[in-house]
Amino acid sequence: MTAEATKCPTCKREVLTRAENPCFPFCSDRCKAIDLGKWLGGEYRIAAKSEDEDDDGEPKPPGATASGGEPAPPTTDA
Ligand SMILES: [Zn+2]
Repeated sequence: MTAEATKCPTCKREVLTRAENPCFPFCSDRCKAIDLGKWLGGEYRIAAKSEDEDDDGEPKPPGATASGGEPAPPTTDA
C-alpha cells in the first residue's frame, strides 16, 4: 500500500507529510488560518442556511404590516 498524498482542505494542493510539515494537514500556515477563519466566521453555516430571516431591513410589501389602521381595499378594478 502506497502512502496517500494528503490534500490541503483549503487549496486542495498536495501537502507534505506530518513529519515535514508542521501545518499538517494544511499545506501552509496560511491555509490553516483560512480554514480556521471560515469556521470561526460561520461561513459554513451561512452557506448552508436558507434565507428565512426577513428582519434585515428589507421593505415589507404594502398590506403586510397592520400598523397603518385600515386594510387596503380589494382591487376589483377589472
Ligand atoms: Zn493550502
